[in-house]
Amino acid sequence: MLIKKIKNILSMPFKNDKFFHNYQKFFNHSSSGYILSFHDLSPETFESHIQALSPAKPIKLNELIERYKNGKTTKDCFAITFDDGVKKTVLENWKICKKNKWPVTFYLPTDYINGDNLPFQKIELLNHYLEEGSFDLPILIKDKKKLLKKKLLIRYLYNIIYKENDLVVKSLLDHFINFIPEKFKKSMPSPISWREIKEINKSVYSSFQSHGVSHTACSTLSESRLKDELIESKNIIEQNLNDKVNSFCYPYGSSKTISKLSEKLVSEIYENATTLIRGKLKNSRLHYLPRIDLYEDNTNALARLKVALS
Ligand SMILES: [Zn+2]
Repeated sequence: MLIKKIKNILSMPFKNDKFFHNYQKFFNHSSSGYILSFHDLSPETFESHIQALSPAKPIKLNELIERYKNGKTTKDCFAITFDDGVKKTVLENWKICKKNKWPVTFYLPTDYINGDNLPFQKIELLNHYLEEGSFDLPILIKDKKKLLKKKLLIRYLYNIIYKENDLVVKSLLDHFINFIPEKFKKSMPSPISWREIKEINKSVYSSFQSHGVSHTACSTLSESRLKDELIESKNIIEQNLNDKVNSFCYPYGSSKTISKLSEKLVSEIYENATTLIRGKLKNSRLHYLPRIDLYEDNTNALARLKVALS
């Protein structure tokens, strides 16, 4: 709460168009392009964030990266990306992009699109609907199998998705999901369907790229399992859309979840890859590209502050 207040006070001057533009000019900040990262947010907030960044304009992710790669200017250019493929988010925000002719890239985790909810969606469901009590872990994880109270269990699960591989995470989460009555399971966010993806993909303004198969932290996977994830997700999207997939978005995207090996393997299969490490396109490696993350509760002024300080 306090941090939010401080951020809002710091961002106050950025409410003013002139202040934002002069700040960028003075520090020569508008000379580097950047990639925006969105998750679940309302179309109203999304549209006003993009408009607040004017005169910078969205261009295609591929075009932005090509320009950057070839040493051409990316001044006042940015790319829009949305992660995770949640139906409501994709459909509503695609409408805004289509109306404004804003190019957008959607990163899809293919298991989710094919029907298995994302790990953090399952934890949110457990947090909501799991009854209070003590819980045993179904498997021994690093000598841990003791009883956990619900609150501790939820914290433990949130922690483990960054540390354990997909098989451990899935078996653990699905074990607890079994305690939840069927009718509540439907409250987890639905994924966008392949039929809808194909329809949106007909437009020149949209692109669908890979966010892995199981939305697992790359650093937790063995070389062969990570390779499978990278190749399989690419193949599934390419086969469904008959279009080339050349970009990968690291699930969770923090430096801890991206090992040196992940970056190496990704660079063998994809032309570029995006993280959730904040920054602009400046001295960035093509398979470790920074992004600037914006959320529903960010004011336009805070969105500008984030861009100005990145
Ligand atoms: Zn994600």
